[in-house]
Order: sequence, then C-alpha cells, then structure tokens
Amino acid sequence: MNVDVERLAAELRELARYSDEEQATAMREERQVAAKDAKEGVAVTRVVFGAADLRARKYVQGLARDAGLSMRRDAVGNTFFRWEGSLADAAPVATGSHIDAIPNAGMYDGTVGVLGGIAAVRALKEAGFQPKRSIEVILFTSEEPTRFGIGCLGSRMLAGGLNAWDAVKLRDADGRSLEELRVAAGFTGELGEVQGKAGAYARFVELHIEQGPILESEGERIGVVTAIAAPASLRIEVRGEGGHAGAMLMPVRHDALVAAAEIIQAVEREALATRADDTVATVGMCEVFPGAVNSVPSRVRLSLDVRDIDLARRDGVLAGIFAACDEVALRRGVKVEREWLNADAPCSCDSGVIAAVEAAGVAEGISGRRMVSRAYHDTLFMSRICPVGMIFIPCKGGVSHRPDEFAKAEDIGLGVAVLARVLAALSESV
Ligand SMILES: [Zn+2]
Repeated sequence: MNVDVERLAAELRELARYSDEEQATAMREERQVAAKDAKEGVAVTRVVFGAADLRARKYVQGLARDAGLSMRRDAVGNTFFRWEGSLADAAPVATGSHIDAIPNAGMYDGTVGVLGGIAAVRALKEAGFQPKRSIEVILFTSEEPTRFGIGCLGSRMLAGGLNAWDAVKLRDADGRSLEELRVAAGFTGELGEVQGKAGAYARFVELHIEQGPILESEGERIGVVTAIAAPASLRIEVRGEGGHAGAMLMPVRHDALVAAAEIIQAVEREALATRADDTVATVGMCEVFPGAVNSVPSRVRLSLDVRDIDLARRDGVLAGIFAACDEVALRRGVKVEREWLNADAPCSCDSGVIAAVEAAGVAEGISGRRMVSRAYHDTLFMSRICPVGMIFIPCKGGVSHRPDEFAKAEDIGLGVAVLARVLAALSESV
C-alpha cells in the first residue's frame, strides 16, 4: 500500500502548531529537563473546546474535505468523516482517535490515528479501491480527562457509557459547564442524540502509538492489540483515633496510618496472588492527617488503582482488597470507607479485526506482535457497540504525554498502510 509518508509527517507537524501556549507554561517549567533531551520534541497542549482545539479541528476538517470525505458532527463534537460505500444500507467500518492533548504533551498521541485515518483513505483512493461498506474516520471529543475530569468523553457518550443527564453536570476547573462550552464551540444539537444506535458500526479499528517500550525494545514495527486493560479506581479513607504521640499509650491506639499500611500490603498481595502479568494494583497516594511528627494519625486517605484485561479477575482482586479492609477495620478498631471513582470494564479485541491486522501486516512484509494495551483508548468504549481492534506503532523509549514523544515517519507510514488494508478488508467483508 503506497502511503505518502512525507505529506502525513508534514500534516502532523502542522497540527502540532495548534497549541494552547499559555496554559502549558507552568507545566513546561516542570518538564523542561525532559524536553531538553529531546531532539524532536514539540510541546503540545490542546484542551478540548479551547482555541487551539477548535483551530486544529478546522485544519483536520480541511484535510478530510480535500480527501473527498463528507462531514457530520454530533452535539458533543465527535466528528465523522465519511467515504460512502456502494452498500448504502450496510453498517460502516470506522477508524479514528483524538486530537486533544494534555498540557505539555507530544504531537503523536491520538493525532496519528486521526490524520493517519485520513491518509489511509487517500492511499486507498489512489490505489483505486471502492468501498462496499462505507468507511468513517472519527475524531473523538476529549479523550484526555484534562478539562472535565473524565476520559474518553466523546466515545463514552457515543457508546452510551455516559448519558446526557450526567454529561450536562460536567464542569471544568473554572466552573464552566460542558453544555456552555460545547455550544460556544459551535456544537449545538441534543446531547441525548450522541449515543450511537445498536449496529451503527460493523467494526472499529484505531491506529495509535504504543505509549510503552515493547515494540521498540523487541525491534517490532506493528503491535496487534488483543485486549485493552481498564482501571478501577477508588478512594479509601481510614478513620482511627488521633492523639499525642507521647501521651497516647500503645495498647489503646487506633492508629489510622498503621491500619492503612496493612491495607497497602494487602493491595500488593492480592494483585500478586493472581500470578498474571496483566493484573496490576497500585496505591499511588497516601495523605495522613493531621500530619504532624508528634501526633498519632487519626485519618488516612489512600488512592487505589487496579487494572486488568480480565474483568472477573480484576473484580476478584478488588474483593480480596475489600475483605482485607474489613478485617483490618475490625481488628484495629478503625473505620474504612470506600468511594468509587471509576470502574470501566476492560475489553477483548475481535478475532476478525485481529486476523485482518495480521493479514495486512503480512501483506506489508512484517509480522505483527500481539500485545495488550495497558493504557486505555477510545476503542475501549467503541467495544461496547461494535467489534474492535487496535494497531500500535513503536514510539521512542515508550515515552508519551511529554514533548519528547516521538514516532518515526516510516513507522507511522507502515501503520497507515496496515490500517488502509484493514479498512479495505473490513469494508469488503459483508
Ligand atoms: Zn491517545
């Protein structure tokens, strides 16, 4: 498959120019060290519905128009670029990703999947391909949680994972509502109509940088994603009894931090007990109150993040942790409260999409490397409404969400060639 790699690389560089500079300044100082080392580093900040996001969307729309694609936008800003197939009634095949970027991020996360999707269409058109099922390239709104604190906003709503009633309650840090911001950005219509109908898509496949080191370290060029892990995250609060560190005698203490320490140990123990590499559990935050050298801790707040590609196994780990919390609470005379923050289900990729990606790799002269995605993507939500798959390409050092994020043009080109072949195969499969 002939892909114009230089054109695509130039488009990615052009897209990277649309960045919210001011918002990035604070973060940049923090990360300057990393950027200094990077030869190819371009700092990009593109917060959803900000000025840079809206200008970047216009740029992408222009590229899609030049590629002969029609456009439809929904009420939350998901944008669908369509190449009409000969079978007007057949569900389309879709690809796509996001163009928003966290503060001071790089220029490849998400963008490779959107601009790469349009480039794949161009390559297929130049090769004379005529789609049977229509092919859509989707630009999803706000994959990053930067503005509204919730990841994959657009794909989540499209998949029915967040209804309009809850969506209108979302606000950013300045108190501006999703409702106000999306209307100001020109996305009117009913939020209730964002959800896709059952059977709206035949299949979905996303091209994305790996954001991990495996492909590069193994010298592989294409990752064939078989499953996407998803986190369950909670806040755990341990309430004990505070007191003076000198006056309170040991036998009568209900020290919240000592209890929390046992819970943290249980988190590690339960994750290790599955003996599966794909189970990970982390306590990344621990706040101690009152936090003084001479006071017995009265209260501790922990964060808990448990991830797996297997929902039942992840739930098993959580159940083990909760049992440990109850046991520690009873034995130590403390209260342990849990608050759910998020519990998205992981997904398995479709065997048909996996086979299509592998066949496309063979046609391009490479063998893909099967792997699990440990970060989550819009594909995770699309899996709720249609069979899905993902194509990974290597990124330097596995680095992502930093200005020195880097993917080689030839790897992007190969990823687009594979994507084009997959879209063609899935479009013809009726
Ligand atoms: Zn991404």
